[in-house]
Amino acid sequence: MNLSSLAPNYIRTIAPYQGGKPISELAREMGLIEAEIVKLASNENPLGISPKAQMAIEDAIADIARYPDGNSFALRDAVSKKFNVKTNQLVFGNGSNDILELAARAFLHAGCEAIYSQHAFAVYSLVIQAAGAAGVVIPAKNYAHDLDGFLKAITPKTKLIFIANPNNPTGTLLKKDALKTFIYTVPRYVLIVLDEAYDEYLSAEDKSEAISWLAEFDNLIISRTFSKAYGLAGLRVGFGLMHAGVADMLNRVRQPFNVNSIAQVAAVASLADDDFVARSYAANQAGMAQLTQGFTQLGLEYIPSSANFVSFAVKDAANVNQKLLQNGVIVRPIANYGMPDYLRVSVGLFRENARFLEVLQMIIKSSAK
Ligand SMILES: *Cc1c(COP(=O)(O)O)cnc(C)c1O
Repeated sequence: MNLSSLAPNYIRTIAPYQGGKPISELAREMGLIEAEIVKLASNENPLGISPKAQMAIEDAIADIARYPDGNSFALRDAVSKKFNVKTNQLVFGNGSNDILELAARAFLHAGCEAIYSQHAFAVYSLVIQAAGAAGVVIPAKNYAHDLDGFLKAITPKTKLIFIANPNNPTGTLLKKDALKTFIYTVPRYVLIVLDEAYDEYLSAEDKSEAISWLAEFDNLIISRTFSKAYGLAGLRVGFGLMHAGVADMLNRVRQPFNVNSIAQVAAVASLADDDFVARSYAANQAGMAQLTQGFTQLGLEYIPSSANFVSFAVKDAANVNQKLLQNGVIVRPIANYGMPDYLRVSVGLFRENARFLEVLQMIIKSSAK
């Protein structure tokens, strides 16, 4: 008997998430040395983690025989003070992916709809489908979210809207006033999940003010993560900020110990290290300039990005990706995001970016012959 047929059709037809290729896997496949591989595929922080987080992690190892605090008390306190929200407005997750999924699990069911953009983060369609709801995809406009298109797609069945700002994999950013007008216009029976995974990489001028909008909009859920600028991708910790009544619903479907104890202390220490975030921001600015200058020199088109990655167009992207891999450089093909002519590269350290550009130039030159 084929047991997969026991799963409902909406589960069987889920297309699994494709992450960046791990360094160890490429090393095995190509017979390469791990230390020589450059991975610029998952928007990780090339500076690593805050030294304060490192120390907190080392101390916390002594206690891992104990269950973590299921309410993330210390982290909740730190986040509530830093962002000036009440402690009951916060939900902590095993990465911010968990927050996205909790929102879907708490509010979606068969027969209702959730809206997201073409070329948006792949997790939205996954969590919508896993909840048995129908995803409604709005065609992008110049690779960016078309908010008017979102408004037109709202029906009485719409329960959730997912927006990533900046968006991954396009790096596009919605302006604050346009976004606020949009939220104001969306009917109050529709929840808006605003995914701000890359907010720390925005300039002071562009940084989100959405947390201050929570007082006005009960139907807003903002998600943040420690995986990107804070460098804790491997520990899995993120959080959502929302109305207390909405947080209560997400907490009902949350696993009791979804955030591990090491992640909790590392997140608290990271939040207190503004210097590390400032250094990460500066390194990203410099690396982004290095990459985009490189693309311009190579005559390659790219989508201007507000985050820590940039998508660029190449002829025969799948083949270029394969050749990059053969030379020990991992980037992200994004054909599964409806962008088969693009590759996405994360901003790395100076020497990593330089190595990527050097190999890319070699590939392009040799294929032009
Ligand atoms: C990387 C990313 C996240 C973060 O996921 P975590 O589960 O917090 O590691 C969330 N949203 C978008 C759009 C991302 O690109």
